[in-house]
Amino acid sequence: MSKKYVIANFKMNKTNKQISEYLDTFIPLVKDADAKVGLIPNFVALSLAAQKTADTNILIGAQNMNENEKGTFTGEISSDMIIDAGAKLVLLGHSERRQKYNETDALVNQKLLRALKVNLVSILCIGESLQERNSGLTESVLDRQLSQGLKDVYSNEFKNIIIAYEPIWSISPGKLPTMDQVRDAMATIRSILTRLYSKELAQKATILYGGSVDDINAKDFAKIKGVDGALVGGASLDPIKFSKVVQGFSKKS
Ligand code: PEP
Repeated sequence: MSKKYVIANFKMNKTNKQISEYLDTFIPLVKDADAKVGLIPNFVALSLAAQKTADTNILIGAQNMNENEKGTFTGEISSDMIIDAGAKLVLLGHSERRQKYNETDALVNQKLLRALKVNLVSILCIGESLQERNSGLTESVLDRQLSQGLKDVYSNEFKNIIIAYEPIWSISPGKLPTMDQVRDAMATIRSILTRLYSKELAQKATILYGGSVDDINAKDFAKIKGVDGALVGGASLDPIKFSKVVQGFSKKS
């Protein structure tokens, strides 16, 4: 069984000074963790975070990326800039970007294709809203997000793709899903990937769960069949709390 991923999404929180202090506490706490650890701060902190974690087991990522290589896109950040800052991961299609900045599946797909061109590991976020779940649309939403989001993506590029299933209604402050709901969603995603690619790819694909994971419930989520790790927002903002989430997903925990 391979190591699980535990990835922090800081969203629009923490200045460079705060991130530096965070890392001073966090790095020693997870240095022996039996998990793959990722940290996704704001763009301005990428270089600092990458430099401070250079000789550690922590990978740094960006929260978004423009789909174009370069050019007249004021205020945007390119894939080359992210790589230049030392990041290895990029979060794409987070529900906050889809909902608050109108990112469509087609746009997320363009971003993913760009990230793949430069070998950035992409975390493709998918997940249904509460209204969609209550209307029985969960499967068709996941199907649409995967079919359109992965358009023109070849199976050999999957080594650089992580899927994050984040039901929008569970993102904190949200409602905790049941273990069965998460297990079922993982199985649904793998069956969609089987149809789009192959059974082998679907079984090997890395799929994370995200939404209200914390230091208390991490162990329970880690046990769910098909869950290869977690994407963590709120509970990642405290280094001690987040190190306990990492511990919860560690093989030796
Ligand atoms: C997220 O927004 O990606 C997330 C998982 O947030 P939280 O852990 O705060 O629910």
